[in-house]
Amino acid sequence: MDQRRDVQDLINWIGASPTAFHAVESAGKTLRDARLLQEGEAWHLEAGQVYVVTRNQSSLIAFRMPEGTPQGFQVVASHTDSPMMKIKQHGELSSSQPYVQLNVEVYGGMIMSSWFDRPLSVAGRVTFREGRMQKSRLISPDRDLALIPNVAIHMNRDVNKGFEYKANVDLMPLWGDGDARGSLLRLAAREAGVPEEDITGWDLFVINRMPGSIWGGQQVFFSAPRIDNLECAYCSLLALRDARMSRHVQMIAMFDNEEVGSGTRQGADSDFLSGVMERIALCAGMDRQSYLRALASSVMLSADNAHAVHPNHPEYADPENRVYMNRGIVIKANANQRYTSDSVSAGLLRHILKDREIPFQDFYNRSDLRGGSTLGNISGRHVGLCTVDIGLAQLAMHSSYETAGCMDLAFMTEGMRAFLETDLVCTSDGEFCLEM
Ligand code: ZN
Repeated sequence: MDQRRDVQDLINWIGASPTAFHAVESAGKTLRDARLLQEGEAWHLEAGQVYVVTRNQSSLIAFRMPEGTPQGFQVVASHTDSPMMKIKQHGELSSSQPYVQLNVEVYGGMIMSSWFDRPLSVAGRVTFREGRMQKSRLISPDRDLALIPNVAIHMNRDVNKGFEYKANVDLMPLWGDGDARGSLLRLAAREAGVPEEDITGWDLFVINRMPGSIWGGQQVFFSAPRIDNLECAYCSLLALRDARMSRHVQMIAMFDNEEVGSGTRQGADSDFLSGVMERIALCAGMDRQSYLRALASSVMLSADNAHAVHPNHPEYADPENRVYMNRGIVIKANANQRYTSDSVSAGLLRHILKDREIPFQDFYNRSDLRGGSTLGNISGRHVGLCTVDIGLAQLAMHSSYETAGCMDLAFMTEGMRAFLETDLVCTSDGEFCLEM
């Protein structure tokens, strides 16, 4: 029963986090005792305290300071963004009169067909002027506002034979009839609580409004939008919140823009994480030598979901390293280093998980499939931590409605907490001592 409640909490959290901006806002609420730091201010850090720093309001780093000089940094990384549609500045299309449609671009590598014939809404950030100030406010109207209707099969007889969707034609959501012209701006202004003429810009997305649900003969599965990667992000928040203090800096990083290559100011391919780590070291009174020494004893879990064996298409999985929902944390490896795991980094995690009797399983792509890339190796270009790629097994990745296993939530949360609570001390290159 507890498990069901915990999964429902996650579903509610995902529902409250329709965009990366909202995920960062939700994260702040989950870490309710954390203190907010601004990148532009001087920092003074206290032992035992959890701090939060955000960039672009869409990426977040949170950390707990240890007592005395930090032995190293142990980081759990995840991402806040998911594939969806982003509304352009002139966001209404009136070319198909009398209809008004939303003028959108596709963000990330989505399964387009999963966005049809379901209730959609609009959410994101609105910026506006207030005297000499420019401010922003997040909006997420709690109602169904748009829909992308399929073409009837009578007009598209080949739709079940594999249909190529065109982003500029097929994916424009229906917003209203002729009377709706101008209503997107009116809605944004009303939701943000400002006059229309004061709006200076927006980062608004079309989001899937389907509520998450727990289902299956034994209620062992759940489905929701954005499980990739809000599930891992949520687990990392609970793990940090509940972890007992250790001798290293316990950190979590939730990056935006993973779905579009991470190469933004707030993405994993930026100086956000390395900058925060260096500032922590400076606040702890460390010199350059002791900072670099601490980096040698620093380890990262790069957490992003993995592909469970598909019930209808088991042939896509590796013959041996096959992962299933509800069977524990997935450790991902790839010879070409699209995943960072090697025997040292994965071995450290297996060591920790075995000691706590937390189940885990191993994932490789089928040898002729390229698979996706993720955060670990990208972040590693900026600060080279010993990193292992992990995730939870899920189905339908990048669909607007994804599926995962209920039991895995506790496995991941406990696993991340165990990692944060274990001091990993590098004794020589490739060797670590695990201090519980
Ligand atoms: Zn992901």
